[in-house]
Amino acid sequence: MQPLISSKLPDVGTTIFTVMSQLALDCNAINLSQGFPSFEPPDDLLSLIEHYLRSGANQYAPMPGVPALRAAIAAKVADLYGRSADVDTEITVCDGATEGLFSSIQAIVRPGDDVIVFDPAYDSYAPAITLAGGRTVHIPLISPGDGFDFHIDWQRLADAVSDKTRLIVLNFPQNPIGSILAAADLDSLAEIVRDTRILLLSDEVYEHIVFDGARHQSMLMHDELWQRSLVISSFGKTYHATGWKVGYCVAPAPLTEEFRKVHQFTCFSVVTPIQHALADFMTSTPQQHLQLAAFYQAKRDYFCNLLTESRFEFEPAKGTFFQILDYSAISDEEDVSYARRLTREIGVASIPISVFCEEPLPGNKLRFCFAKDDATLATAVEKLCQL
Ligand code: PMP
Ligand code: GLN
Repeated sequence: MQPLISSKLPDVGTTIFTVMSQLALDCNAINLSQGFPSFEPPDDLLSLIEHYLRSGANQYAPMPGVPALRAAIAAKVADLYGRSADVDTEITVCDGATEGLFSSIQAIVRPGDDVIVFDPAYDSYAPAITLAGGRTVHIPLISPGDGFDFHIDWQRLADAVSDKTRLIVLNFPQNPIGSILAAADLDSLAEIVRDTRILLLSDEVYEHIVFDGARHQSMLMHDELWQRSLVISSFGKTYHATGWKVGYCVAPAPLTEEFRKVHQFTCFSVVTPIQHALADFMTSTPQQHLQLAAFYQAKRDYFCNLLTESRFEFEPAKGTFFQILDYSAISDEEDVSYARRLTREIGVASIPISVFCEEPLPGNKLRFCFAKDDATLATAVEKLCQL
């Protein structure tokens, strides 16, 4: 007899974030694998959620999102990126960035379409492309001299684009590598997509976590790119609340219209009291996100300074709350089994990078999340220095 189901995603297992967090739990290891902060959201924001929970905001929110939250997002986007996005037709609150990415891909990609992603690519893109019937085309980010400064090879992108290319997925600040875009990169991208029908899906969930005085280069800043972009962000990173799963999609009206056709049947609407609370908090404290870069830069520096005593090689991340460490000087074991070994034997869990790549990156690299209190980071590094 035929099996009852044949997999639509035969090559997909359980996501590495679940696998490594579970292993950390089983081994009682310090969990620097899955990216989530060990800090609480702002107290005033928590009070606002309590308030809305107790004052009747407990039924379905409007499908595109609570109007006040969409207005707060519009104000932020105008203030930060100079983009005036229409509250009613260009902003949609979604069920975390994950749903925003998934719904975008389902709305755009058809069987036979190519979608370009840059490796190492966040793991939710390719399965969503496969489910839409598209083909994922992997282009590795490159780093001169096998260093850590990974960026897009524009010539390679130009060569990979064809009339089958429907979508390019960008993710800067980049998870897991921690690299960022420069202003000139937006122009290079514009040159490649000009006179094509290619759309851009820009995953900007780490938009506020950019270091050393650099500025996040959003697709929202660029008049030409904006016309063909869906920009996805998430409140999870900004307010230390990854468990809330509230994000948003900003896209020109014709793209938003198609996005919402999928969004309304993927999750319909997003948790109501948290939307109201976020709207109030963003309005009363519009500058809150500006503290984030300095906060995480101090964490990065603390972590990296301690690591100078170790045998790992690294360059401090330019953005995100992840640090790549190269262990080539310590071991030549492949990274998935090495990450498991470190979790079991040293008691520190990390994420192997090869799972995000079609072709392995040079060297042996693991990703560590530094969104943790200093004591946790210090204990982790003490263990890593034993290697
Ligand atoms: N994109 C990237 C690059 C991420 O790192 C994450 C998770 N942190 C997401 C999307 C998903 O965000 P959310 O938790 O809001 O769904
Ligand atoms: N984005 C988080 C990370 O990169 C994980 C999110 C998840 O577990 N789905 O670690």
